[in-house]
Amino acid sequence: MAKTAVITGASSGIGAAAARSLAGDGYRVVLGARRLEQLEALAQELDGEALALDVTDPKSVSELAAAVPSCDVLVNNAGGALGLDPLSESDEEQWRWMYEANVLGTMRMTRALLPSLVESGNGHIVTVTSIAAFEIYRGGAGYSAAKHGQRAMLRALRLELLGDPVRITEIAPGMVETEFSAVRFGGDQEAAKRVYAGMEPLRAEDVAECIRWAVAQPEHVNIDEIVVRPRDQATATEVHRQKD
Ligand code: NAP
Repeated sequence: MAKTAVITGASSGIGAAAARSLAGDGYRVVLGARRLEQLEALAQELDGEALALDVTDPKSVSELAAAVPSCDVLVNNAGGALGLDPLSESDEEQWRWMYEANVLGTMRMTRALLPSLVESGNGHIVTVTSIAAFEIYRGGAGYSAAKHGQRAMLRALRLELLGDPVRITEIAPGMVETEFSAVRFGGDQEAAKRVYAGMEPLRAEDVAECIRWAVAQPEHVNIDEIVVRPRDQATATEVHRQKD
């Protein structure tokens, strides 16, 4: 029987690409996100299953877990950033959402599916954090705080699961051109485009390949973390851009 991979935030970007990659490796994919229409189209293409999921809502997470009879791989990918304001002008609602989606969402999904992951005999939890999990930049305090928190949580989990048949991998990408920046800027496509102006960002597929590769390693091999950036990006703030 095919192994099952549950991917959160699979309606766009890195999550959708990861679903394609894992389905390509023979996994039965279960796709979770809030936009069910996008999910259903992808599920049909991949012969997978689409389930409505809001990781900020404990009830929604429990419902998804109840609908998944077995789970071999969990990809905690749902999340993102809201706003780029300095801390002096920070919006508490945006900060709260970033913490809920990135940190508590990952905790809830992991806690809900952990029994199945252990029972599989070779479970794997892959979580997409960011270089913001260990770097900071102006205007990124809220997002960096959430991603730093998500990373700390994964490291504690790695200790707690030592001895259990579950691998833990953190994928920390730099700039990836997805819906991420449009979401961050409240749907402002021009502002989102400027983020990647004059440089070549990663594509969602580049990150998906990191996820697929980490999962494909033999079961005694735990890829602890992968940091992946565009060649044009050395740090969160040092980006090479063509002038014209
Ligand atoms: P994206 O295209 O905006 O995808 C984000 C995904 O998360 C969407 O499928 C969205 O689906 C889902 N999502 C958001 N809130 C959710 C919620 N409450 N419950 C369930 N699903 C939710 O952006 P992306 O770049 O692929 O982002 C994926 C992950 O990569 C995020 O954790 C992000 O922080 C991280 N990351 C991105 C970059 C980058 O530069 N793009 C860099 C480093 C790390 P719905 O809206 O349908 O719910």
